[in-house]
Amino acid sequence: MSAEEIRKVAEIILDANFLIALTGAGISAESGIPTFRGKNGLWNKYRPEELATPQAFKRDPIKVWEWYRWRIGLVLKAKPNPGHIALAELEKLGFLKALITQNVDDLHERAGSRRVIKLHGNILEARCINCEYKTKFSEPPREIPPKCPVCSSLLRPNVVWFNEPLPEEALREALSLTYRADAILVVGTSGVVMPAGAIPFTVKERGGVVIEINISESAITPIVDIFLRGPAGKLLPAIIEELRKKY
Ligand code: NAD
Ligand code: ZN
Repeated sequence: MSAEEIRKVAEIILDANFLIALTGAGISAESGIPTFRGKNGLWNKYRPEELATPQAFKRDPIKVWEWYRWRIGLVLKAKPNPGHIALAELEKLGFLKALITQNVDDLHERAGSRRVIKLHGNILEARCINCEYKTKFSEPPREIPPKCPVCSSLLRPNVVWFNEPLPEEALREALSLTYRADAILVVGTSGVVMPAGAIPFTVKERGGVVIEINISESAITPIVDIFLRGPAGKLLPAIIEELRKKY
């Protein structure tokens, strides 16, 4: 990153009427939560496509729950990093209107972001596969696989798996924000999971500005107006600092 690029990004943010953000696993990497893709990817032995699917859960719910139990433990232990905190700050300052995240952790919420649209659910929640029962974990489940206290069926993580549709309400809100946005900050996502990965393309097609922060190039990089290469936990606070100078 150069100081010049940070200045340009600050200008875009100051000029924007409706700035939104799209985040992915990369923003939580510096909090110790592994990403799916890229180095230090989750569970190198398994591909997420082999565990995060309804088919995998049907075949081997214990194996899938073991993976989730491990990830729930990581999320509960993790703390928001300066990247999450800077995005919350950007909203408090009035520049960021909403944050759409593919993350299933709660680090944006804990950092103080208020308008968070969770496209892929919440890893700290589980729901019954049979009835309406839903629960929230304050510690990793002891018994694997956890069962529904109402109907004794299996509980499943309240997240969106590959081959599953997104929660309707979150999707509707994300789309309406996407249509309103004249600028988008895309942070720490490989951009390959659809439909989330299409959001920056829609903003761009409608004349908006796309800014990307990532330690390496992604599927979104070819259409960006500015690419800031580096860790989100460094670059986002640098943008806030620059905004404070001008503001
Ligand atoms: P991904 O794993 O496909 O991609 C992560 C991206 O982050 C990569 O492009 C990588 O280069 C970048 N990155 C890594 N460290 C970074 C850093 N310090 N700063 C900036 N960028 C960094 O993740 P994705 O695009 O979010 O998509 C995969 C799916 O993974 C989503 O559906 C999501 O639900 C799930 N997931 C979520 C979490 C979480 O909630 N924390 C963790 C892993 C996976
Ligand atoms: Zn039940």
